[in-house]
Amino acid sequence: MVMSQQRIAVLGDMQVRMLSEQLRGNVIRPGGEGYDAARDILNAKIDRYPALVVQVKDAEDVAQVIRFARKHGVEVSVKSGGHGVAGHAIVDDAILIDLSLLKSIEVDEEMRIARAGAGLRAGEYVRATEAYGLVSPVGDASTTGLGGLVMGGGFGFLSGKHGLVVDNLLAAEIVTADGEILRASKTENPDLFWAIRGGGGNFGVVTAYEFQLHPLPQVLGGMMIFPFERAAEIVRLYRDIAESAPDELTMYLGMATMPDGMSIVALMPVYSGEIAEGERLLAPFREAGPVADMVQPMPYSQASSAADPFAPPGFKLHERWDTLYALPDDVIDGLIERATPGNSLGNVVVIKVLNGAATRVDPAATAFPHRNTRYAVLALAAWLDEADEAANIAWAESVKDVIAGQRFGSYVNASIGNPLSEVFGDNYSRLAAVKAAYDPDNMFHGNVNITPGK
Ligand SMILES: Cc1cc2nc3c(=O)[nH]c(=O)nc-3n(C[C@H](O)[C@H](O)[C@H](O)COP(=O)(O)OP(=O)(O)OC[C@H]3O[C@@H](n4cnc5c(N)ncnc54)[C@H](O)[C@@H]3O)c2cc1C
Repeated sequence: MVMSQQRIAVLGDMQVRMLSEQLRGNVIRPGGEGYDAARDILNAKIDRYPALVVQVKDAEDVAQVIRFARKHGVEVSVKSGGHGVAGHAIVDDAILIDLSLLKSIEVDEEMRIARAGAGLRAGEYVRATEAYGLVSPVGDASTTGLGGLVMGGGFGFLSGKHGLVVDNLLAAEIVTADGEILRASKTENPDLFWAIRGGGGNFGVVTAYEFQLHPLPQVLGGMMIFPFERAAEIVRLYRDIAESAPDELTMYLGMATMPDGMSIVALMPVYSGEIAEGERLLAPFREAGPVADMVQPMPYSQASSAADPFAPPGFKLHERWDTLYALPDDVIDGLIERATPGNSLGNVVVIKVLNGAATRVDPAATAFPHRNTRYAVLALAAWLDEADEAANIAWAESVKDVIAGQRFGSYVNASIGNPLSEVFGDNYSRLAAVKAAYDPDNMFHGNVNITPGK
């Protein structure tokens, strides 16, 4: 790492200036205007210093940076929305390829296709397509980058009705490790297209996506809040309703202690069919008597920002995100025990449903292997004081013991040191072969790294 910094220094102003002259985007040196903002990501635990930041403006800029990095033996890292808790986006002494200026969006209303720049955040993307009465799935937080969300698969509130984020991807523009700009789709570089739908950022830098859009004027969404003391009853109700729900209903449930000290169970449902039918399906929760009920008809862009309050900036973070086959009573009780005030250290446990269209795709059809699972459990630990770090990490990791009997594996977008076999399942060997074909020198290794060919 020190070596690459020295090389940048040895290259000196002239080489960096020459790079800069070849680019449409901005080159920022350490200490320059915008440098600290560019290296800042959601997880405040990550405090790293790139040798250079390049805010690219198009795929050709990315290609130039990759060729420059290759020529001078400098590492690269890739940042879209900066939401990745593992912090892969920022690497000490590397060139940071910052995609945040790639915010273009075009909507073809007739074909119902959106072409979106990889620097858009989920909320920006969905608000732009929604202006045409059309949407495609995103996650549950508006500030998550579209870039990283797609790379991992993309869980979201439309997974029952329209599948994962990647199930709606028609094509991508991607810059490979040798600086080539390719299009990947079912018919163009199909292996690459298969791999980028769940294989993490291992195969190149995606600069633009094309998504299939669907008409969706509004959804029934929002949040109902119950006191934590009623968790045993509410989580069971959640499971029972989820297991008989139609594709249109996808729900998440969070157990958390809020900054004001109140411990809650938060139900976050999204129903994407007729509003009256959604009201009928959710009536048992209303009858259970929430202390606050904010579930109402709303635009999908609003419903898909439900998790925003759970991700305030400035906190140090650690997470586990595991997929589960089922949610039996013993797992429910174990998760409630972990989320109980006093045990939880103020952290969040989220139980997400994976249903409908997302689960009807063959696990080998895209790189995302978790299709036969029905739930995901996310344990997100957040703290401010470094002295609290070890206890918080241990808390998040302890959730694994509770779910062990039902566990399939770990979600690539949240994996911090989980074995690759748990992240990619049976898709690993094909991913390794695609990696060998497109990135044989492992240029893109700041990620959940797939070894070329192995
Ligand atoms: C509050 C919160 C809510 C979340 N909700 C959801 C959810 O509902 N569903 C879900 O599936 N996930 C969710 N996640 C996880 C999310 O998918 C990952 O954190 C994802 O990596 C974020 O993408 P990003 O672009 O913001 O991340 P970044 O930190 O910018 O990128 C993470 C890594 O992804 C790779 N990458 C990013 N963009 C590109 C690109 N264009 N080309 C190549 N590689 C790239 C790189 O390796 C990069 O280091 C959530 C995370 C948080 C913190």
